[in-house]
Amino acid sequence: EQDVAEYRKSLSIRVSGFDVSRPIKTFEDCGFSLPLMNAIAKQGYEKPTSIQCQALPVVLSGRDVIGIAKTGSGKTASFVLPMIVHIMDQPELKNKEGPIGVICAPTRELAHQIFLEAKKFSKSQGIRVCAVYGGMSKLEQFKELKVGCEIVVATPGRLIDLLKMKALTMMRATYLVLDEADRMFDLGFEPQIRSIVGQIRPDRQTLLFSATMPRKVEKLAREILSDPVRISVGEAG
Ligand code: ADP
Ligand code: MG
Repeated sequence: EQDVAEYRKSLSIRVSGFDVSRPIKTFEDCGFSLPLMNAIAKQGYEKPTSIQCQALPVVLSGRDVIGIAKTGSGKTASFVLPMIVHIMDQPELKNKEGPIGVICAPTRELAHQIFLEAKKFSKSQGIRVCAVYGGMSKLEQFKELKVGCEIVVATPGRLIDLLKMKALTMMRATYLVLDEADRMFDLGFEPQIRSIVGQIRPDRQTLLFSATMPRKVEKLAREILSDPVRISVGEAG
């Protein structure tokens, strides 16, 4: 663990008063644990995609990130892999303390895809992932959340419902991801997102991913991210 902390620090270099991180070229450059490296290999991921090369070191250094890249560019792994590192760095969880990592996505299909991806990378490390979205029984989700998990992948509406039902608490949440932020806005989830963000401690690490950055998403990002690093890959953003 000491090594990981040291490594993360070494990823940051100071240039004219700004902290920046060098892009990585291989997954080995990230200082991931052996189980995580094995899980990556098992997925058949040989080398990181462009957004992963840029985003992984910055996210691993603990900075807030706005990531803009088109669909299919590999954004999921760029927030899921550092989330696992982040969780492994936290003190052991007792049940019912709530998730450490919270991922919000606009639709149940997208949430489900992220859930599957998160499970693939976290299983070997004893990290539990809960999916919280519509179309599944609220009671089942309630029970599952009560058992406890380290990662919650959710659509905003259902997460709010379960928070109201006290199925989970955000007491331990320190890593928040808003995926496909532009689509969440298009679907009218801004109030739910603001409510969820308001329940998570302000010193959290926050990541916002989007294919496009309309003005209202930019405004939310300015309000809820602290001193974010903006990473834009391809012609987007
Ligand atoms: P996005 O969220 O940017 O649309 P995804 O994270 O869903 O993209 O990734 C798109 C596809 O690429 C998925 O099938 C994923 O498993 C695959 N993928 C992601 N990263 C890599 C990689 N480094 N090497 C090979 N395939 C990858
Ligand atoms: Mg995605």
